[in-house]
Amino acid sequence: MIEIKNYIGGHLQGALSGATLENPEPATGKTFSFIPDSDQSDVDAAVAAAQDAFPAWSALSNNERGHYLMAISRKIVSRMDEFVEAESRDNGKPQWLARKVDIRRAHENFEFFGTGIMHFASEAHPMNDGINYTLRKPLGVVGCISPWNLPLYLFTWKIAPALAAGNTVVAKPSEVTPYTAHLLSEVCMEVGLPAGVLNIVHGTGPKTGAAIVAHPGTKAISFTGSTRAGKEIASVAAPMFKKISLELGGKNPNIIFADCDFDKALKTSVSSSFSNQGQICLCGSRIFIQRSIYDTFRDAFVERVKNLKVGDPMDPYSKQGAVVSQMHYDKVLSYIELAKQEGGKILCGGEAIHPEGRCADGWFIAPTVIEDLAYDARCNMEEIFGPVVTLTPFDTEEEVLRMANATEYGLSSTIWTSNLNTANRMSEDIKAGIVWINCWLKRDLRTPFGGVKSSGVGREGGWEALRFFTEPKNVCIEY
Ligand code: NAD
Repeated sequence: MIEIKNYIGGHLQGALSGATLENPEPATGKTFSFIPDSDQSDVDAAVAAAQDAFPAWSALSNNERGHYLMAISRKIVSRMDEFVEAESRDNGKPQWLARKVDIRRAHENFEFFGTGIMHFASEAHPMNDGINYTLRKPLGVVGCISPWNLPLYLFTWKIAPALAAGNTVVAKPSEVTPYTAHLLSEVCMEVGLPAGVLNIVHGTGPKTGAAIVAHPGTKAISFTGSTRAGKEIASVAAPMFKKISLELGGKNPNIIFADCDFDKALKTSVSSSFSNQGQICLCGSRIFIQRSIYDTFRDAFVERVKNLKVGDPMDPYSKQGAVVSQMHYDKVLSYIELAKQEGGKILCGGEAIHPEGRCADGWFIAPTVIEDLAYDARCNMEEIFGPVVTLTPFDTEEEVLRMANATEYGLSSTIWTSNLNTANRMSEDIKAGIVWINCWLKRDLRTPFGGVKSSGVGREGGWEALRFFTEPKNVCIEY
């Protein structure tokens, strides 16, 4: 049994109460580790450690802080295999995916912000008879709370800019996927990150997460997770006038016009539907296909999806692993049942899978494609966040825009067309924070990242993140 610990004031320790939570492996359904079930007292200790560390950390030069982040990045690379195995075991995703996407991005996040802070500058506004300049000071202690779908990737996407900008951090990974955050604690100790600069507290959202949000000592909350939790966090943090950045749920449209590059749209749509078992907030779970190519695209798509091998995340030939938890497995299967009740036709998948051998009791679901659902059926409106997509035909640009924009969400969107005018008009009118034209998940870490409507508030990435984690102060000098 692996014992995961809190990292507070530079030390690894259990919850002060001694309470623990079980952490199962999704591929087998068996508990493989315990995590601290932290409460208010652990969060108080973490905030106090972060407050103690703040004066010295914020007084370092940007370059000095950048060098610590680069050292963390290098150390993750040197322990790559261990991180990859941990992420895959904890989350159920195939190991090749954890290597290609998760851990790679985690070390890149530290590299990106570790070097980025060396180039970060602020504005000046000259007048005829004077000048304004903007000081950007770190906020103090900030809270970072992340979900289970891209565990270390999203955890570090918050921690790295927060630290680079000179803040000290109290962070909580998802209780469902705590393992790589624990390895990150070890890495921080190995590179000699000063005690209290980063504190990692494990536990549940309602107890540990809520204590971080409500603590008067945390000056900002950067949160990625469900819209439901985002609302709760905003209701607590907003009246305390904390800065908040909320990256929330999505129900993203993937729109395929008849004039698209068919083969590329087809191949990429399989990835954008089912990567990470469909558990990426950016997955295109509603596929709209122009009617003249609907049948051809549908048949080719279903054929490819049927060939996706579902199985042991340790098997390099598994394209799909397990979904993250029993609770999530039950939720996704219940939505498949709901789709049938709503009149949906299951074209492939639609059921649980029980691989032979060690994974027989794991939480595997066959990639599922559904058609014939109304565009406003619940399965097309609510976030399922699993290996389930729906296909809907459309005739005109206006019609598909209306259907695409009909949900409460507005995170990302994908448009496939060879007509530049269509692409530009759609990009203007689609209600989403991110639009991909003829591609998906092509990322440049400098770009603003985030959603509109119930998909969130604020933007991450590049200067946006460094601005979020600093407070601007205008200084005006008259000549
Ligand atoms: P979740 O909201 O249940 O939990 C996310 C994190 O918040 C966890 O660490 C959890 O312990 C904590 N938490 C839960 N309730 C809390 C509360 N009241 N106060 C403080 N912390 C609390 O989400 P999840 O199930 O872990 O993740 C899946 C969701 O995340 C999906 O909705 C998905 O779309 C979303 N997501 C969004 C993005 C994005 O960039 N917009 C990226 C990844 C995932």
